[in-house]
Amino acid sequence: MSGSLKLTCHACGVTNRIPADRLDAGPKCGTCGARLTDGKVHEMTFREAEKASKVDDLPLLVDFWAPWCGPCRAMAPEFAKAAQSLRGKARLVKVDTQANPDATVRYNIRGIPQLILFDRGREVARLSGARPAGQIEAFLRENVTLPA
Ligand SMILES: [Zn+2]
Repeated sequence: MSGSLKLTCHACGVTNRIPADRLDAGPKCGTCGARLTDGKVHEMTFREAEKASKVDDLPLLVDFWAPWCGPCRAMAPEFAKAAQSLRGKARLVKVDTQANPDATVRYNIRGIPQLILFDRGREVARLSGARPAGQIEAFLRENVTLPA
């Protein structure tokens, strides 16, 4: 892979352009200094997630969840594990549908947890229900081409 990648900062929302070969070096946001690929799950608003899903050059997997949802809470550590092992290849974020009810309408979400995978500006696949980390990773590998 060569050239540059666009990545939205999950801390401040600014879009960064970084050299593709620096992905492994843990690039930082030019505006706020936050790491762009830290392998952690970031909580986002619906608007931030929507922007990132349109702009980012790395696959974005969004976990639509809510605090009252038991299976969502049960899956959180598994989702975090998957984020860690996919570090630098894809980014995993969470959107709280209770705080962002418009997300449910926009993406026509009927039940949670609902995972929606975005790649280069479009939705590519969905996975419903709580899943172990291995299945979340497999789901990504099946549906997008991950950087080596
Ligand atoms: Zn930033």
